[in-house]
Amino acid sequence: MSSVTNDETKLRERMAEHGKALFDRGLTFGSAGNISVRLDDGWLLTPTNSCLGRLDPARIAKLDDQGKLLSGDPPSKEAFMHRAVYEERAGARAVVHLHSTHSVAVSCLEGIDPANVLPPLTAYYVMKIGTLPLVPYFRPGDPALGEAIREYIAKTPAVLLANHGPVVAGKSLDDAMYATEELEETAKLFLLLQNHRTRPLTPEQIDDLHTHFPS
Ligand SMILES: [Zn+2]
Repeated sequence: MSSVTNDETKLRERMAEHGKALFDRGLTFGSAGNISVRLDDGWLLTPTNSCLGRLDPARIAKLDDQGKLLSGDPPSKEAFMHRAVYEERAGARAVVHLHSTHSVAVSCLEGIDPANVLPPLTAYYVMKIGTLPLVPYFRPGDPALGEAIREYIAKTPAVLLANHGPVVAGKSLDDAMYATEELEETAKLFLLLQNHRTRPLTPEQIDDLHTHFPS
C-alpha cells in the first residue's frame, strides 16, 4: 500500500465535498459522472457505480499512470477518458465529467457547430471555457471514445461528448469544477435563448478579455 500524504487526504475530502455539492444541486444524479485528481504518484478517481453525493474519501480509487488500481474501490468505467486527458495535457491536475442536464441537452441538438458548440455569451464563459468542440458519439465504455477525446483535448481543456456530456480539465480540482459549472450554466442560458435574437461578445471584446485575463 502506498503512503498517503496529507495533500492526498485533503484532495480526497475535497472530491467528496464537490461531489456532494454537485449532487445536492441536481448537477449529477444516480451514479452518473466522475471526478479525478492527478497526484505525483498516480491519480484518484471516483469508483464505479458510486453516487457523487455520497463518496467515502477513503474508498476513492487510486490508480497508477497506466490506469492500474493501486487501492480503493474499482474505478469508474470511464477511467480511460480521464487517462486520455492526463496523457494529452501535462498541466491538467483534475478532470470532471458530468451528465448534467443542460450540457447534455445541448449535446443532443441538431445543427450545433461541432468546432465550437456554444457562443461567447458571457465574459466568464469565455475566460473559463472559451472553445468547446463536440466529440462524436460513441457507445459508453468504448475505448475508441478515449482515442477520439485525445485529438480534441490536446487543444482545448473542455470538450462536449455528443449525446453524453462534458469532460473538463483544470489546473486544480477547484478550477476544473468551476469551469464545469460555468459550462453548465452557459448551456442553460443558450437553451433559454433559443428562438431569441442574441448578442454574443464580439471578437474585439473577446480579445480584450484575453489581454486583461491571460490564462
Ligand atoms: Zn459519462
